[in-house]
Amino acid sequence: MGNDGGSIPDRRDLVRNKRKAEPVDKANQTRARWRFCALSKRRLQEPVVSCALGKLYNKDAIIEFLLDRDVYGDGENICGHIRSLKDVKTLTLTPNSAPVPPETEPSERTQFVCPLTLREMNGLMPFVYLRPCGCVFAVAGLSALRSTPLESGSEPEKDTCPQCATKYSHSVDSIPINPLPDEEERLRELLSVQRLLEPVKKSKKRKAAAADASAEPPAKKPAVATITTASNSLRSTLALEEAKRKANMSDAVRTLYTDIGTGRKETFMTRGTFTRYA
Ligand SMILES: [Zn+2]
Repeated sequence: MGNDGGSIPDRRDLVRNKRKAEPVDKANQTRARWRFCALSKRRLQEPVVSCALGKLYNKDAIIEFLLDRDVYGDGENICGHIRSLKDVKTLTLTPNSAPVPPETEPSERTQFVCPLTLREMNGLMPFVYLRPCGCVFAVAGLSALRSTPLESGSEPEKDTCPQCATKYSHSVDSIPINPLPDEEERLRELLSVQRLLEPVKKSKKRKAAAADASAEPPAKKPAVATITTASNSLRSTLALEEAKRKANMSDAVRTLYTDIGTGRKETFMTRGTFTRYA
């Protein structure tokens, strides 16, 4: 509290009715969810993946988790519904190329933007990713390109991704990133429904069905077997996915990501920066 010679009290320590710290906490939480890996709490670095519940992760953290599900203490709570790399989608993110505003640390700048609106992906406005291709857009940007509003119900014809022209079904394939609690609940329900509807062998959409362990159909392989398989083939799968992803990129985009990729190495100086920022 001060006055003991050990510290210098400021106004907050002396005024009786302190302002509640809650709004700041909430802002910090929002900031953390959009800037840091939900699992490792490290700064988001490409390749970034998202699950069927719209959380953001560093792909390397998910790989660590799949190899050893106890490596992060609370991993099961955060992403227990992820059983293999097929349960996540590598996102195609648009780096923020706007100049850093004065008096802003480069590390404080929002990393990614919507490719359509150039709005910053910082939690202030809703974003979605498209499940088939992983492209990420602000909801406002995407719905402006659609003939019907984004909030409308399911429709039979497929939409086309404005960035890579992949076909997607709006009602099931656009996943809100870091959704609000009620949206997240809807996604969980969608997951369990899709899981029940899908044939067991069709692993393509298993991520959509992996959230609810209790709804697991009896014919499905037990999770342990899936994990073992995952660790055995993880590296080859990863290499394959990366190759596929790179093959889909234009040359210009590829050079962008290559640059980022080479500067991405973590040292003991940058590791665990989340705790210092938070
Ligand atoms: Zn796309």
